[in-house]
Amino acid sequence: MLTVKIGGGEGIRYDLIAADVATLRASGTSLVLVHGGSHETNVLSERLGKPPRFVTSASGHESRYTDRETLEIFEMIYCGKINKGLVERLQGLGVQAVGLSGIDGRLLEARRKDTITIVENGRKRVLRDDLTGTIESVNVSLLRTLLDGGYLPVVTPPAISHEHVAVNVDGDRAAAQIAGALGADDLVILSNVPGLLRDIADPASLVTHIEASSLDDHMDLAKGRMKRKLVAAGEALAAGVRRVVLGDARIDAPIQAALSGRGTVIAADGDARH
Ligand code: ADP
Repeated sequence: MLTVKIGGGEGIRYDLIAADVATLRASGTSLVLVHGGSHETNVLSERLGKPPRFVTSASGHESRYTDRETLEIFEMIYCGKINKGLVERLQGLGVQAVGLSGIDGRLLEARRKDTITIVENGRKRVLRDDLTGTIESVNVSLLRTLLDGGYLPVVTPPAISHEHVAVNVDGDRAAAQIAGALGADDLVILSNVPGLLRDIADPASLVTHIEASSLDDHMDLAKGRMKRKLVAAGEALAAGVRRVVLGDARIDAPIQAALSGRGTVIAADGDARH
């Protein structure tokens, strides 16, 4: 069992990913896809005259400030353009893909954050209308029903809160939760970089292996979105996933490349180099 997260940054090659998914499925690999859409959401938000706003929490994590209008724009891209585009592409390759957001069948249930404390110009401020959350449960039986029927689930945020409200959740952490809940062996997180880089301007500075116990020591290398990927990797390993690979989404057969160890391999101590 394999879970693949497809990033939402600029330059993601959906054609290469879809072809690779078709190959893997044809060889009998059972997999679930999860995707993002951050770059396209930023583009649409600008076009609609509601530029994205990113806030930094007191703990140092950057996230998209999501009021209701932002959430609706987010859904247009994540649940609309990207999800349906991927399903269309996969169907064209003979893959029985089914697109689902975390709301559908309560696939991803989250606890909504009542307030978030952000730091703005060095000062702390409390935001109350932010529609973001943390996933607390995955509807595994829905995923299994689809997988058992031969369908490929293509999953996207948002999630649904316990109060039945759509909330923005982090896609990497959603993929980690899904991988853990399904008992996946591997989680592949594809984005527009070769993996974790020591120097973001130098693709040759790739960190090739990280043992789980030294994950925290690598947090400082990662900025912004990459930090979330390391947090997600830690959560996946804690949930029983054997190996997480941060791979490049812009190369040929990107999933198979990641599975063969290309990228940053994060695994339990002693396993990271295998
Ligand atoms: P998502 O794929 O979930 O939408 P991104 O593609 O934005 O997220 O996440 C990957 C981004 O993380 C890269 O484009 C890069 O700009 C950023 N990043 C920050 N620090 C690092 C690092 N040390 N190594 C690699 N990428 C990094």
